[in-house]
Amino acid sequence: MDLDSDMEYQVVSESDDETGCCGKMKNSLSGIKSQFKVHEEENLNLQSIDKYFVTNNFVSIFVGDVEQPWVLPEKLLCDHSPFFQAALKGGFQESCTKEVRLREANPLGFPLFVQWILTRRLRCPEEHDLYVADVDHCLPLCSVYVLADMLDMKKLAMHAVDQVRRCMSLDTRLPSIEEVTYVYDNTMEGSSMQECFVDEMVVAFLSKDSFADTNREMLWIEAVGANRKFHQDVMDAIKEHTLLEVCSVKECSVHKDRNGVRARRLVLERRKQRQCKGLGIRHV
Ligand SMILES: [Zn+2]
Ligand SMILES: [Zn+2]
Repeated sequence: MDLDSDMEYQVVSESDDETGCCGKMKNSLSGIKSQFKVHEEENLNLQSIDKYFVTNNFVSIFVGDVEQPWVLPEKLLCDHSPFFQAALKGGFQESCTKEVRLREANPLGFPLFVQWILTRRLRCPEEHDLYVADVDHCLPLCSVYVLADMLDMKKLAMHAVDQVRRCMSLDTRLPSIEEVTYVYDNTMEGSSMQECFVDEMVVAFLSKDSFADTNREMLWIEAVGANRKFHQDVMDAIKEHTLLEVCSVKECSVHKDRNGVRARRLVLERRKQRQCKGLGIRHV
């Protein structure tokens, strides 16, 4: 599956007893994905943003247990998310009430979802300041990643992972206990965000000068202890890395040492060859 392309879901014919808005309504959005057939689409057919707001058709979205809803144009939601398309056009009770409740969603991520559908961009909402202890820096991005998965928005999910990688590299940040716990509790095993966290931990461990700052070492130990599966994933990835012939990690302690040994061996071999040549001995 090409993750670069957005996905569109089509309603597969519904059973007779579940038809129609305001008649016998479907009253649950759970299991909604299973009713839709997936096919890929190269590009979303989007309008310019001002056109979406020339409408009387707005939807109230309640996120988590927050009472105050987000009110957004229905077409804007449906054009971006197959989930909203299904919920609001598929004969569920939400089609009538124009209210959608995302009880499982973390309210931290929703403003980033709104930023994305308005601008098709995803920016980190937090300040990048090395001197501020900010353990939950990436939590809004992790939350929008989980939300994007819930709303079937692959591109948004990918952008969230990319932005987390950027945030981590900008501040030489490590995943925090809260972030690891949230991502491992709310995403599938081996998800892109889990992989991203494991990569960051492995690179920090391998990079020679990474732990010169002892506080960073403590943060690493805390993070790896946040979740048993995460601990195992990080250890497995380090083990795998040591088996690589070459690697691209800057200042990698494993491969730098190995290259050093190899280089010394080469110098010794060349020296031996020269000595043999000087003595008229054919080197074998
Ligand atoms: Zn950031
Ligand atoms: Zn390496």
